[in-house]
Amino acid sequence: MNLNTQILFAAILGVVFGFLLNAFPETAFVEHSLYGLGILSSIFIGLLKMLLIPLIFSSIVVGVSNLQAGGQFGRVWKITVLCCLTTTTLALILGLACAHLFEVGKGVDIAMFQTQMQNHQTPDTLTPASFLTNFIQNTLINPFKAFSDGNVLAVVIFALLVGAALVKGGDKFAQVRSISHQFFEIMMLLVGWVMKLAPLGIFALLAKLLATEDISVLSRLAEFALVVTGTTIFHGLVVLPTLLWIFGRMDPITFFKGTRAALITAFATSSSSATMPLSMKCAQENLGVRPQIVGFVVPIGTQLNMDGTALYEAAAALFIANLMGLDLSITQQIIVCLVAMIASLGAPGIPSAGMVTMIMVLQSVGLPAEAIAILLPIDRLLDTVRTVVNVQGDMMISVVVDRHASESTTDQG
Ligand code: ASP
Repeated sequence: MNLNTQILFAAILGVVFGFLLNAFPETAFVEHSLYGLGILSSIFIGLLKMLLIPLIFSSIVVGVSNLQAGGQFGRVWKITVLCCLTTTTLALILGLACAHLFEVGKGVDIAMFQTQMQNHQTPDTLTPASFLTNFIQNTLINPFKAFSDGNVLAVVIFALLVGAALVKGGDKFAQVRSISHQFFEIMMLLVGWVMKLAPLGIFALLAKLLATEDISVLSRLAEFALVVTGTTIFHGLVVLPTLLWIFGRMDPITFFKGTRAALITAFATSSSSATMPLSMKCAQENLGVRPQIVGFVVPIGTQLNMDGTALYEAAAALFIANLMGLDLSITQQIIVCLVAMIASLGAPGIPSAGMVTMIMVLQSVGLPAEAIAILLPIDRLLDTVRTVVNVQGDMMISVVVDRHASESTTDQG
């Protein structure tokens, strides 16, 4: 059985085992199983997190210096940003449209959630302006602090600068360039080793998630959960593959076959950052994207491109407004979209990050931040699917960028 198939089976077994554990709570067997699953998942996630920062740093440095040396950096950068903005905008429009179409939250009694909202500690106000200031203050910092804190965005920016400096220095820095390259290859080798553990890790993560979630709360918010999940899946199965087909000239079957391991890992970990090493490996080895493109686009996309999160935040804002019996004007809906876009750019790729930035979206149109208390109980479950689409978008963009950047080289040649 190849690794891809093992991962698929592990995910299915994990879901089944998790449901069984959930059905028989409070027995010694369940307790021991949860302990064992906890250890297994911590080892898997821990190893991925261990590789994340060195991998991001080395891959961007190598990617930028190779791209710049080949005269492609400007083009790659522009296509990446264009792709991120296009797919996120489509996700936002889709989120709002479906929330309108299915009138999520209309007719639901808000009183049902009163205690939840009262007991919820609202974090400090988060306005787009303060968010942006924080964003800047947190990114231009001492790189050693950024490395040790695991501050992905700050590491990305530092790596971009070092990559550019390496090219500027030319032959003078040839040694550092080759060391960075070798270091990057060592990291990818380690990713390969960690991937061997992926079936076990994914089994444990999914079983634990389903065993510990209170699945019954889903029923109260079933309609909203279904609409958001359905729309996110539509974005992942129809919108993104269509764009990939048109602009990347890759058929969806090849794409999904090649990226299955990363997509299932995203589902199980609910973290695009933790999945990043696998996304890079899949894009490079199974989709044939050139290493310098993968090394640049995937780490940047992991931080900045989150279609699933953007879609969720737009739909959730409308859901809360409907619950409260408020009609958001067109201008307010545009504000929701813009703020949700900023929120998805700034959200780190970790579980439930979208919930935190959601506060900003709600407050931007005067909705109460406490209302996220309504969504919190089901967030971990919804997070699984939106993270898959976030990760899918990053790998898809790397294919499109690779295609267009290489076309430009061919044209020039
Ligand atoms: N968990 C998501 C991710 O890692 C972020 C979110 O909470 O929406 O991509």
